[in-house]
Amino acid sequence: MILIEHGTVITLDRERRILADGSVLVDGRDILQVGRAAEVTPPRQPDRVIDARRAVVLPGFVDTHVHLSEHLTRGLLLDDIPVDRYLPDWLIPLYSVITPEEERASALLACVEMLRTGTTTFCEAGTLFDVPAVADVVEEIGMRAILGRWTWDREGGPGRMQQTTEEALRANEEMIERVHGRAGGRIGAWPLLLGFGTCSEVLMRGARRLAERYRVGWGMMHFASHPSRKTADRIPLAELDAMGLLGPTTKLAHMVYVDDGDIALLARRGVKISHCPTAGLKHVKGLAAHSKVPEMLARGICVSLGGDSGNGSNHFDMLRMMYLVSTIYKDSRLDVGVMPPEQALEMATRRGAAALLLEREIGSLERGKRADLVLYDADTPEWRPLLNPVNNLVYAATGASVRTVLVDGRVVLDDGRLTTIDERALYARVERLAREQIARAGLPIESKWPIIR
Ligand SMILES: [Zn+2]
Repeated sequence: MILIEHGTVITLDRERRILADGSVLVDGRDILQVGRAAEVTPPRQPDRVIDARRAVVLPGFVDTHVHLSEHLTRGLLLDDIPVDRYLPDWLIPLYSVITPEEERASALLACVEMLRTGTTTFCEAGTLFDVPAVADVVEEIGMRAILGRWTWDREGGPGRMQQTTEEALRANEEMIERVHGRAGGRIGAWPLLLGFGTCSEVLMRGARRLAERYRVGWGMMHFASHPSRKTADRIPLAELDAMGLLGPTTKLAHMVYVDDGDIALLARRGVKISHCPTAGLKHVKGLAAHSKVPEMLARGICVSLGGDSGNGSNHFDMLRMMYLVSTIYKDSRLDVGVMPPEQALEMATRRGAAALLLEREIGSLERGKRADLVLYDADTPEWRPLLNPVNNLVYAATGASVRTVLVDGRVVLDDGRLTTIDERALYARVERLAREQIARAGLPIESKWPIIR
């Protein structure tokens, strides 16, 4: 039993209560009580009491679209590479040579970054190869995740990048059998298709059927994302609907190019959307001019946030994503009232949980939910004065103020120190493996400015 007491608790509960002097009592992996400090009464002596007097307590964030395997080569791609050459010239060569050891190190780096910036749950973008090895990493560091493997059938590529529809579906089924439900249920596995027009109708239908059979969600991870028709990722939504592919267990990432008819259809079918503001901006998807996130939210569509990739957004910091999503649309609509910070925070928590079909377990601090929570150090300049905690969080705070993180009731970051892994050893391994992978892929490590060694 862990008692976190006397904190400023942003509960995200039904009434969206913010407790100025609140406590959270954790029993095992669950939240047993949340309320005013005076009203939280442990039935027995807690094993540990965490003084949150100078802390802000929040539910852990949920990131609904991250590429774990690209973190090992983060920042490799220069800005003068056209976006539509990323995949064929850089990412496919890198993916085609990645080893299980490299995939593990890359995933671990991504997980450390998420935990240190307040994210406790994520959904992988469906681009893993050795999913069981990555599940080991997630289990070890103690996070909650949905994982997915590289799945397409219309494109070829070197070696394992090639797969038939049948092979792609069989590999997904094997993955679900081996990984789903691991780590006491913390780890799930979904059929997650690459998208970008690389998936046949048979594959999409097969993925949906697989998801139904295993009672999980499924998704298309890159859809309606870019004005370039070369990526062929704009199958009309009505066509997908006619195939029976749109429903509350369908998750589509990006969805920048939607019209009013699409929005009505997405709302009617209860489709979940992962919006990726950082990648949208850096990949010049035309977010400010074209994206309809405020309109989708106004229609009640579940829009969550995704960090995307090591070369597409370059970070998985949810605080920076919330800042962007709160400000881009204010500017493009010339309306400061668009996308208030409370909405951004809901996207990062409750809506993220709903997108992963985990709304009964996570996304808010409420009795009976899993104890996934984050303590921010309020004795930092960005949190003072603490007049409106949500404004501080979305507009001012950085991941640097994350001090303590619990996932499933376990303290995984304890006053700034990771309890489950050797972080320094990881960074040394990442430096070595990154260079080895890039060399095997035959790619250069370039810099516009000379790096003197
Ligand atoms: Zn992506």
